[in-house]
Amino acid sequence: MASFSRIAIVGGGPGGLMLARLLLMRGMNAAVFERDTHADERPQGGSLDLHADTGQRAMRVAELETQFSAEARPEHQGDRLYDQHGTLLFDRDGEGDDRPEIDRTALRRILLDSLPPDLVRWDSRIESIKPLASGGHEVAGRGFVEQFDIVVGADGAWSNVRPLVSDAAPSYGGVTLVELGFDTQRHPAVDALTGSGKMFAVGDNRALIAQRNGLGHIRGYAGVRMPEDASRYLAQSSVEDVRAIMLEAFAAWSPELTHLIEVGDVIGIRPMYALPIGHHWPNQPRLTLLGDAAHLMSPFSGEGVNLALADAVDLAEALSSGEGWPAIERYEAIMVERSAPAAEGAAAGLNAAFSPAGVDSVLAHYLERVAVSGPENRQVS
Ligand SMILES: Cc1cc2nc3c(=O)[nH]c(=O)nc-3n(C[C@H](O)[C@H](O)[C@H](O)COP(=O)(O)OP(=O)(O)OC[C@H]3O[C@@H](n4cnc5c(N)ncnc54)[C@H](O)[C@@H]3O)c2cc1C
Repeated sequence: MASFSRIAIVGGGPGGLMLARLLLMRGMNAAVFERDTHADERPQGGSLDLHADTGQRAMRVAELETQFSAEARPEHQGDRLYDQHGTLLFDRDGEGDDRPEIDRTALRRILLDSLPPDLVRWDSRIESIKPLASGGHEVAGRGFVEQFDIVVGADGAWSNVRPLVSDAAPSYGGVTLVELGFDTQRHPAVDALTGSGKMFAVGDNRALIAQRNGLGHIRGYAGVRMPEDASRYLAQSSVEDVRAIMLEAFAAWSPELTHLIEVGDVIGIRPMYALPIGHHWPNQPRLTLLGDAAHLMSPFSGEGVNLALADAVDLAEALSSGEGWPAIERYEAIMVERSAPAAEGAAAGLNAAFSPAGVDSVLAHYLERVAVSGPENRQVS
């Protein structure tokens, strides 16, 4: 029976923190290295819906179901679809769905509160990982060097661990989102447009999205197809220029919709990158990946965080199985099998929405879900 006594988790996102929690429950010794200087250094992003078999299951296995239920917002699962003229094509309240929303900040807080305070090493960006003759690895950052039996890359899209196991790099999917923030009291028109959960307005290679978050906030996205260099230019532009560029891109759209771009606080530029679908690598003893580091995909399948949490459950089981590295090889195979269809769905969803007739494909997707999920959902025109 092989056992791993020291485990380094690089990255304190949902996947890395969930893994730390599960290892701790099994009495294993892990350290999380996180580049953020503290938990609230940067806004963690919008709302996430946790799915029954993956995200919600992970919260149950981690014995954090009560904390999750206290923060989750099952009332915010509705969907609306508009065309670019502001015509409401589809509206459902999502009642009876089982994908409750939770703010990303709340999810991170629940996971952090479940760990001893010194388990996460804040302000600890990992800059190098070197193999040791003993079989483990030395991880180093500014001002620290430590040795571990196992290193887990849970460090997201631009993972520093991934290049040690794989040559794959994320490629640009042709679409960039500008992330926008609103609060409902200041922006009643945005509040009314959004409905009970999330609204999409889609057409002509473009989309406007608004999604309810907790505490009276709404997170929005204005997305356009653009070349990668235009996306880089946008990322370097001032807030005023970003707003002007996006208003020009949506000039033919209804003013009721472009109001989102006019009044939203510009939070960030999110170019859509993805790893190759079914990304896998030759198994490398004592190094593995989870979450976005292993299978970055666009958010258009709504699976990213769910997969990261499910990976953590399977990897914790493998690491604590006492079977040594073969158990990790099995984890990697399961992870690839689970993430590949989601990645395919995410790529298809992105390409269908950002197409000349994007609204038709999004409507077809919603109607398909109605057929599966029942009569409380309705098409309005
Ligand atoms: C605009 C947008 C909307 C999304 N919406 C959804 C959604 O609705 N539903 C959904 O399921 N998913 C969504 N996602 C995807 C989801 O955010 C990710 O799949 C999920 O966060 C992956 O978790 P992770 O723990 O693997 O990585 P991350 O959340 O990226 O966490 C990685 C962590 O590693 C840290 N880190 C990075 N490099 C280093 C280093 N060298 N050293 C130390 N620390 C490091 C980072 O600071 C970060 O805290 C969305 C993504 C985007 C961009």
